[in-house]
Amino acid sequence: MTLQFGRPMVAIPGPSVVPDRVLNAMHRPMSNIYGGELADVTNSLLADLPRLARTEGDVFIAISNGHGAWEMAISNTLKRGDKVLVLESGHFAVDWGRIATAFGVEVETIAGSLTDPIDPAAVARRLEQDGDHAIQAILCVQVDTGTSVRNDIAAIRNAIDSANHPALFMVDCIASLGCIPFSMDDWGVDVTVSATQKGLMVPPGLGLVWMNDKAMAAYASGDLRTGYWDIGPRAEENAPHYYRYAGTPPVGHIHGLREALDMIEEEGLENAWHRHDVLARSVHAAVDAWSAPDGLSLNMADPVARAATVTTILTGSIDTDAVQEMCEARSGLTIGVPVGAFEGRAFRIGHMGHLNPPMILGTLATIEASLSALGAPLGGSGVAAAAQVVANELSNPGAG
Ligand SMILES: *Cc1c(COP(=O)(O)O)cnc(C)c1O
Repeated sequence: MTLQFGRPMVAIPGPSVVPDRVLNAMHRPMSNIYGGELADVTNSLLADLPRLARTEGDVFIAISNGHGAWEMAISNTLKRGDKVLVLESGHFAVDWGRIATAFGVEVETIAGSLTDPIDPAAVARRLEQDGDHAIQAILCVQVDTGTSVRNDIAAIRNAIDSANHPALFMVDCIASLGCIPFSMDDWGVDVTVSATQKGLMVPPGLGLVWMNDKAMAAYASGDLRTGYWDIGPRAEENAPHYYRYAGTPPVGHIHGLREALDMIEEEGLENAWHRHDVLARSVHAAVDAWSAPDGLSLNMADPVARAATVTTILTGSIDTDAVQEMCEARSGLTIGVPVGAFEGRAFRIGHMGHLNPPMILGTLATIEASLSALGAPLGGSGVAAAAQVVANELSNPGAG
């Protein structure tokens, strides 16, 4: 017997739920790709995307996932033999560094932990030792989707400045853009990387790279460009709009992203940040209430360092596969599998993008029911705790 026959719910940290409005916008016949409406929509995306990252810089759209956007950032800003400093905080910054290695870039890593954000003081100490400025770029993520840590990007920039270091500062906002505060220019980020399938509510398929003037100057002296990723032709003024995609434009995704940006505009970016904050706190409250010896606990103990887009939940003695299987096969809820060092001892809830109380409270209630059915140790009702967070917001909107 299964109860799963309804609208499936995917609560993984990407791809996230795609709104019907976006799906409908994408569902259209192919059009003229050489001009007309599609060119106008492309131009509107190139005009609006910088506002999303809060920059006056340029944006480039790759037909790719996040890994492609990583590669676009590296190959357009660095030179063979350059050195980059990777700030580890879980899983993803290290993988980004691997792409740099493949281009012949030397990678040094400041080791991180699975339970803490990047320590800005450690970054400052390392950069102070780099008197001859061998380090050309610093790579980190804002939110690591494996650990669910949120790094303090502004504090890391302050650390770089305190060491008076000129390296490019590159930040992966794949699991955070559109969901939590990010301000590329105010925070002195030189290269921002994202993709459409997480907070931006569009299916996987578009990688996004923002570059400021300093990054564009690095492009001019870089030597890692490849035919496809090269931003040069994409940036050419007055070039036909299909140059922006280095070939045939991704027609459906272009319309999907347009609709998603319209939705963010209608909500207001700061309101979207607040909504994510409320829903994330409801998830955290649920896990705290569920917590029990040998049972569940939050991977990120410090509330300040928790991401508002994904939650990694340690499972103690509970069989994670059984929880996932019970949620998915019996109830139609897909929860996130653990990655890397968390394999076998955690599951994740993605809570980014197109998400409201019935979706997240339904997700939490389904997880709670599955845990109960499995006889897992539970300290109390996470659903009640989560509903209380939502209730507080409803009775006192915006109070946090
Ligand atoms: C998902 C994710 C990636 C990888 O994106 P892909 O689209 O799978 O290539 C990179 N960084 C972070 C922080 C992510 O969450």
